[in-house]
Amino acid sequence: MKLRESLLGGSAAMPGASLQRACRLLVAVCALHLGVTLVYYLAGRDLSRLPQLVGVSTSLQGGSNGAAAIGQPSRELRPPGAPPPLPWGASFQPRPGRDSSPDADSRPGPARNLTLAALSPGTAVSLPACPEESPLLVGPMMIEFNMAVDLNRVAEENPEVKLGGRYTPKDCVSPHKVAIIIPFRNRQEHLKYWLYYLHPILQRQQLDYGIYVINQAGEAMFNRAKLLNVGFQEALKDYDYNCFVFSDVDLIPMNDHNAYRCFSQPRHISVAMDKFGFSLPYVQYFGGVSALSKEQFLTINGFPNNYWGWGGEDDDIFNRLVFKGMSLSRPNAVIGKCRMIRHSRDKKNEPNPQRFDRIAHTKETMFLDGLNTLFYNVLDVQRYPLYTKVTVDIGTPS
Ligand code: BGC
Repeated sequence: MKLRESLLGGSAAMPGASLQRACRLLVAVCALHLGVTLVYYLAGRDLSRLPQLVGVSTSLQGGSNGAAAIGQPSRELRPPGAPPPLPWGASFQPRPGRDSSPDADSRPGPARNLTLAALSPGTAVSLPACPEESPLLVGPMMIEFNMAVDLNRVAEENPEVKLGGRYTPKDCVSPHKVAIIIPFRNRQEHLKYWLYYLHPILQRQQLDYGIYVINQAGEAMFNRAKLLNVGFQEALKDYDYNCFVFSDVDLIPMNDHNAYRCFSQPRHISVAMDKFGFSLPYVQYFGGVSALSKEQFLTINGFPNNYWGWGGEDDDIFNRLVFKGMSLSRPNAVIGKCRMIRHSRDKKNEPNPQRFDRIAHTKETMFLDGLNTLFYNVLDVQRYPLYTKVTVDIGTPS
């Protein structure tokens, strides 16, 4: 004691003694902190108690943004043998071939992500729901098609877009899980403009989205509606999308208030196209860009598979909606303005002479032809930085 006192300077050591007490207190606080951290860490392994996590697929949590991706795959829509829908994430790997590739089932899954998140409590942050209207919107936009688009640059300018053209807002949880389906054949230049313009718009709209380009293989007559059906089924293998936007590759909205999402009624999005003088060509027109929720799509048995060549399939879809008692939701003609890339008619997409007859019989045919009679062969699935390209053999007109 004496030695300690002399070391501390006798009576002058009083301040040193308080310092000692303070140090002891500090050590005690540190030990307590360590204990609390340990308890938190161990509790964090109980995933059901965690709030929604940054960088974690909410599909395991039953929250508004993911619910039953794993628990309730759209069984009736999955072709036999197809893998269950997989949530996306940063760890997603390109599928060089078909989904049946050996690595398809060994992709790092959400459980792994969740473990990582639990190991770093600092990342466990609960996100608010995205607001009804995004605060990021800018309104009218200049749309031009006179510059060259370099997709590598577009990817650099959209660093938040993940492989396959997948995006999830990082500051809020979007209820709009939107698969954007683009029917496609030999229109790479148009696709570049589409990606260049749409990715920034869709991000500003705070959508949880993925881009699917459904590429018709072969030289048969083009079949837009069947490709859209394929897109619906293929997108659901990736994620529990609840909304499907069907867009022609050559149409760009001129106002980002034109929401690429679903509403309580089927949505017609391209309501004021420049090629029609910025108005509807006729009141039942449902072509160009439209959006249907998963439920709306299933209610009408999807789209017809037997419209080969140009025209009529969008009218058939409109008829299906009407026959199932639905109406259309549309933006006004100012917000709904959009621009089409001018082009000559594609070969093997000549006007379909049977379309008038087919449209006249939608009521009788809609449950004989649609999702329940959809057959196709996926030949290739490629994940590019800005989109997923599914090349498909959809057969030939029967
Ligand atoms: C066709 C539709 C097309 C519309 C506008 C109609 O005659 O049946 O498929 O979208 O014209 O071009």
